[in-house]
Amino acid sequence: MAEKRPITVATGDGIGPEIMEAVLHILEQAGAEIDPEFIDVGEKVYLSGNSTGIPDEAWESLRRTKVLLKAPITTPQGGGYKSLNVTIRTAMGLYANVRPCVSYHPVIENRHPDMDLVIVRENEEDLYAGIEHQQTPEVVQSLKLISRPGSERIIRYAFEYARKNNRKKVTCLVKDNIMKLSDGLFHTVFKEIAAEYPEIESNHLIVDIGMARIADTPEQFDVLVMPNLYGDIASDIAAQIAGSVGLAGSANIGEQIAMFEAIHGSAPDIAGKKIANPSGLLHGAIMMLVHIGQPEIAEEIHNAWLRTIEDGVLTGDMAKGKESVGTFEFARAVVERL
Ligand code: NAD
Repeated sequence: MAEKRPITVATGDGIGPEIMEAVLHILEQAGAEIDPEFIDVGEKVYLSGNSTGIPDEAWESLRRTKVLLKAPITTPQGGGYKSLNVTIRTAMGLYANVRPCVSYHPVIENRHPDMDLVIVRENEEDLYAGIEHQQTPEVVQSLKLISRPGSERIIRYAFEYARKNNRKKVTCLVKDNIMKLSDGLFHTVFKEIAAEYPEIESNHLIVDIGMARIADTPEQFDVLVMPNLYGDIASDIAAQIAGSVGLAGSANIGEQIAMFEAIHGSAPDIAGKKIANPSGLLHGAIMMLVHIGQPEIAEEIHNAWLRTIEDGVLTGDMAKGKESVGTFEFARAVVERL
């Protein structure tokens, strides 16, 4: 038997522990060769007196295993501690956030049967660099940081991703008609790098019309690359159009370390009700298995998941008013189809 690969697992806040339990059950039953090391990060760590929300043992585990499977974490809005998601991404150099959004029509109702796009979001810079100043009691300033090396790295990643995954087109979304220097730099770098990949079609749209087209005709897109904030917004829009924010997974890739998660948050409105959809986190876990060299198991799980939804076994967010099952019933149904 192959040696089990240690991975770090954070069960998160809100619906996090429920969906993580469901996902780990599926992984275990599918025979994934993983050895989870559990860490505590987030709200409970912060409330216990650690002002960063991430204890030293968690960093140590992550540096050692180099792979984190993370359930969503609650971040206080307005004040309070800094987003741990942003802290982990920047501290670990997870520069590329890859978010596939695929239509499962007609099983999950949506108007776009041919939608199959991948958002590649820059993950360390832009307004998420967290440089904010209170200038006067009535004025605050947030700095938008876009660098040439950061832009080159993410745009090259998007084209390399397209090449490896046989994708035909890469689209850049920015607002360089207004932010001529920052978004202008991102666009300039996009044009330079696109020229190195003549076999891949490339185009550019102003972000507002780009978002409108994602909402209206998402099937016209293939790979999209954009700065951090636009990518965050676009991926929630795209996942919802595909059927539910509960569906999409996300890979945060760095040179050394990678983190896999769902795109959605901790959903405090449904926490504890055991109705949350574990599919987003499962899709993150499937990407993790490919990353750690277990693609056959990843494919087996994905096929079982597809058979589950095709058989009409759906959580409430996917069923949209039709009959639905809870988080664990859904996970058991996936296991039965492995
Ligand atoms: P959210 O994504 O948690 O929830 C938005 C809506 O989608 C809610 O109605 C929720 O019930 C529903 N939803 C989300 N995931 C679902 C699932 N798996 N199954 C069924 N329904 C689901 O967004 P929010 O309410 O704006 O944020 C809640 C908290 O999550 C905030 O503290 C926010 O900062 C945090 N957050 C964390 C991450 C992360 O850890 N990566 C990402 C986004 C938001």
